[in-house]
Amino acid sequence: MSEENKPKEWSFKKNVAFTVLEEDRHADHKDDGCDATCGHGPGRHHTAHAETAEEEGRLVPNERVRSYRIEGMDCSSCAMTIENHLRMNPAVKQVRIHFATGKMQIEHDNTADDIVQEVKKAGYRATPIYPIGGAEVRQAGWRDPHQSMTVLSGVLLLFGYLGQFAGVSDDFRTLLYALSIIAGGYKPARSAFYAIKSRSLDMNVLMTTAAIGAACIGEWLEGATVVWLFAIGNMLQTRSMERTRNSIRGLMSAAPVEAWVKQGGLLVRKPIGELAIGSTIIVKPGEKIPLDGDVIDGQSAVNQAPITGESVPADKGAGDPVYAGTINESGALEIRVTKLAQDTAIARIVQMVEEAQEKKAPSQAFVDRFAAIYTPLVFGLAVLVMIVPPILLSEAWSEWLYKGLELLVIACPCALVISTPVAIVSAIGSAARNGVLIKGGASLEKAGQLTAIAFDKTGTLTTGKPRVVHTTVWEGNETDLLSIARTIEERSKHPIAAAIVRQAEERAAPVLVGANYNNFVGKGAGATIAEVEHFAGSPKLFEELGAGQGTWQTEAIAMQREGYTLVLVGTRERVMGMLAVADTARETTVEAIRGLKEVGIRHTVMLTGDNEGTARKIAGESGIDEYFPELLPEQKVGSIARLQQRGERVAMVGDGINDAPALAAADLGIAMGGAGTDTAMETADIVLMADHLEKLPYTVRISRQALRIIKQNVWFSLIVKIVALLLIFPGWLTLWMAVLSDTGAALLVILNSMRLLRKTH
Ligand code: ADP
Ligand code: MG
Repeated sequence: MSEENKPKEWSFKKNVAFTVLEEDRHADHKDDGCDATCGHGPGRHHTAHAETAEEEGRLVPNERVRSYRIEGMDCSSCAMTIENHLRMNPAVKQVRIHFATGKMQIEHDNTADDIVQEVKKAGYRATPIYPIGGAEVRQAGWRDPHQSMTVLSGVLLLFGYLGQFAGVSDDFRTLLYALSIIAGGYKPARSAFYAIKSRSLDMNVLMTTAAIGAACIGEWLEGATVVWLFAIGNMLQTRSMERTRNSIRGLMSAAPVEAWVKQGGLLVRKPIGELAIGSTIIVKPGEKIPLDGDVIDGQSAVNQAPITGESVPADKGAGDPVYAGTINESGALEIRVTKLAQDTAIARIVQMVEEAQEKKAPSQAFVDRFAAIYTPLVFGLAVLVMIVPPILLSEAWSEWLYKGLELLVIACPCALVISTPVAIVSAIGSAARNGVLIKGGASLEKAGQLTAIAFDKTGTLTTGKPRVVHTTVWEGNETDLLSIARTIEERSKHPIAAAIVRQAEERAAPVLVGANYNNFVGKGAGATIAEVEHFAGSPKLFEELGAGQGTWQTEAIAMQREGYTLVLVGTRERVMGMLAVADTARETTVEAIRGLKEVGIRHTVMLTGDNEGTARKIAGESGIDEYFPELLPEQKVGSIARLQQRGERVAMVGDGINDAPALAAADLGIAMGGAGTDTAMETADIVLMADHLEKLPYTVRISRQALRIIKQNVWFSLIVKIVALLLIFPGWLTLWMAVLSDTGAALLVILNSMRLLRKTH
């Protein structure tokens, strides 16, 4: 795949749909377009931004593209048929249908009604999706009209079959079978007609041919059984697929559509779409929060599970952020709205999950390539089997026609083709409901293969809210020292800076006039105060500044051994004092590290810019095996590479803000706190919505289970095909068994994948 064909950077804005790159959409179903360049061997690292188009499902943003939900698709070949059918329409510029999510993205010049009609002709239902507040406004539930026809077909078949014991004439039974074939076969026949018209060879074509063929050779019972099994199998598949596709709809309906708005002393109920940023809303106890915002008044426990999967409600008070879709449990909250309805965390999650579900996993490449060769091959074989033995060897026509029809049915690779995408849609949907955003099949696969996980320390393993616990002054007084430190740190975003500012505020140390603010990543910060350069940072920073030897060094070393992080304050020449900062491992960290050991992650490693003593202390508290201290951000990248050289498959977990290089260097980048920060959501391969590690072991577990289920599905569907093929030639296979092996296998693959939906921890 060439550079030009790569999709543009992801855009996560609402209402931006995604389309297929025109030139290679055809490759979607025929061949993956995958060549040697898309190998995913070890050492191939990338961020979510740099994935190949193949992994992304060949999507580029385009404002004119609309989304539709398609119902009634029971196999991925149906998606192909609809696509091909629409593509023949001159008003349609480009179209892509994803079977597993049941979504169509299409760019067209005619009306939505025209599209709905076209899809209906081919036997399916399309519904335009209008995004409002991140939720999808759906029309009333659809009952597949073919369901009653399937039942009718079954009843006719049964009467015909039982008729032979009641002495019903053969002609009348044949009539019953014929009616049964018409009732159950009308829909596949119609779809087959459109498939042939658009020159695609889908399972409707193969099944229809088989049924007609069976009737032609006088096997009416067989023909009716084939049709009915196919119809009932498809009905069950459609039902289970709808349940899988609906798995994230629960998320979409999480946020209420109206809010109580404070307007000039009055409370008015308004649709959330009408609210502007800055509006004040009231959420009563027991209600769901309708929009993202900051609490301005009130105190409550908020159950954030719908977004973050957190088991414990979070305490919220003035200044804390709250998210749409979470549940206000105890007190009334007054909230200032910070996000429009379509930009809330939940709206973004829903959109990103749907995009993620459509991205192909690398393991699917094999299946797609296999299917692309397999179907034409078996189809060709079927034709040969029907013609060659009777003509050249003067064998009986009916026997070889029958075998040929069986081959036609077996040529459907349906179960195999859906074995991977259905499992991926289930796993990603299930993870989303547990507060874990997995950005595609490739990320899911990597998460399932991890052997080591590296963590950033501050804010990831620790609370991220360090406190100043000790102040040492060598020159001047404590207030002056804190004043200088505060002045420097007020411009820094580091959690340590926040701790220092808090301490200075508590001690009433005023801010001074500063200039030339400077940031030394991983070391500290500086500013010019009273025309002298001042610094606040690690002992390393002051050594580099050449602050010279002094008593400060001995005292600093002693403090560091005890596990304190030190911030020295001074100028280029002199160190004036030091602040000892302490941070502790969170409870959730300890639990998560233990959980990871249980799921079999061999190595946990801490990467930190902090000193050895602190690193050792936090590693001990949290149960981490190994730590690499005193690393600058770029050296963290080197440490990841070192772990990879040892043969580990490494994930890096960080806050996604100052750890971006390490997140990108790892095989898998995991960011946390996704609900709060947009950057975290966009840079990582996997995002934990909560601001802690509680769901990390779950993430590894569900990814591994997904890999296992995919493997089971692929082997199962391959073996069923092989067995069916082998049984044909001794004449042991019947046509209805062939249909059962196909439709039944597909159904079992779907049901097996749906086990992932139930996984919650
Ligand atoms: P971590 O790997 O623990 O997240 P960082 O790389 O963010 O650490 O920072 C490493 C060290 O650099 C800190 O432990 C601290 O000593 C120092 N440091 C970084 N930023 C600042 C700052 N704004 N003020 C003071 N010290 C800082
Ligand atoms: Mg950090």
